[in-house]
Amino acid sequence: MSDQLKWIQEELDQLKSAGLYNTIRTINTPQGAWLRVDGKDVLNFCSNNYLGLGNNSEMIAAMKKAADQYGVGPAAVRTIAGTMDIHLELEKRMAAFKGVEDAVTFQSGFCANLATLPALVGKQDVIYSDELNHASIIDGSRLSGAKIIRFAHADARDLLQKITENQANFRRGLIVTDGVFSMDGDIAPLDQIYEVAQATGTILMVDDAHGEGVLGKGGRGIVDHFNLHGKVDVEIGTMSKAFGVVGGVVAGKKVIIDWLRQRGRPFLFSSAVTPADVAACITAIDILERSTELVDRLWENAKYFKNILKTMGFDIGISTTPITPVMLGEAPLAQQFSRELYDESIFAMALGFPTVPRGKARIRVMISAAHSVDDLDQGLAAFEKVGKKLGVI
Ligand SMILES: *Cc1c(COP(=O)(O)O)cnc(C)c1O
Repeated sequence: MSDQLKWIQEELDQLKSAGLYNTIRTINTPQGAWLRVDGKDVLNFCSNNYLGLGNNSEMIAAMKKAADQYGVGPAAVRTIAGTMDIHLELEKRMAAFKGVEDAVTFQSGFCANLATLPALVGKQDVIYSDELNHASIIDGSRLSGAKIIRFAHADARDLLQKITENQANFRRGLIVTDGVFSMDGDIAPLDQIYEVAQATGTILMVDDAHGEGVLGKGGRGIVDHFNLHGKVDVEIGTMSKAFGVVGGVVAGKKVIIDWLRQRGRPFLFSSAVTPADVAACITAIDILERSTELVDRLWENAKYFKNILKTMGFDIGISTTPITPVMLGEAPLAQQFSRELYDESIFAMALGFPTVPRGKARIRVMISAAHSVDDLDQGLAAFEKVGKKLGVI
């Protein structure tokens, strides 16, 4: 290896010796309640396929039809070669679904954050960011060049104090928070945060990646959950989680969406998702608008699973959503727990530092509407067996 690249091998070796090297399992099946992973059938507690749409037959049919009608890809960025009508249709449907003035789609939720933050704030401005916000919010914030001031997690009082202390030094202020925090499964107090935004004249942005298709009436998201329609300036969403496809969306005030079509750099300099992806997303909205059945089943499954885990004596933290952390403390215990579960054919990830704070390692269970009660019971039995074996309960 050439000298100038040696440092990379050294870094990789260090990750391996620290037990922090990511070994990625290979999945041989579509997403669903069960997966074949490295050739073994396992119960899936890992993915964000909240509604089981990742392998929905109606959506697959829509993708095939769209590929026949529009081909495989858009072949250029939308501002240069024109935009396909199907992308505009998705944006119209998404805006109506979420009850906002307008929406624009991006290649991913990550891109949506990278597009939105630098378009709204710059060097003379300040971003007030929840200390546990997602990596894509952090990266988008850095890219904007604005000063980043973190406020205590989910703490509207601390937010108000930070704004009061700092805002005079800056031109504009923007508050940004995850809607649902993916490590603990708690929900941002968006109603209180809105009051602070209102009182201080600050732009309000929420990233609803884990709330889309999960929170609110029929999965309409966190703004619907708190009944804040028309009050939140801008929402980031993803079609890669509950929607089961791929793609990001920014929804909110019309003037912001217009601006992003002019100034959102991933919109201007990167192609859109494929027509087949778009068709699948539109069909997902059809499914959600037709019935709340999947969203209802997701929440019933989550309630069932969490109640029994609690009764068994597990600590499931502060989650109020289908994200279920099983708190174990030290990382080696969480890793051993995950391995033992895997031997019982349960695929559930251990999360440790730096993904979560030291001493707060956990197994994170992602509940889905795709799980049957039998699936959940099988998962619970494995948790009980391993929990007793390792002295957790
Ligand atoms: C997953 C996630 C994203 C990224 O979404 P993708 O569409 O997968 O890029 C952005 N923000 C939050 C809060 C997320 O949880």
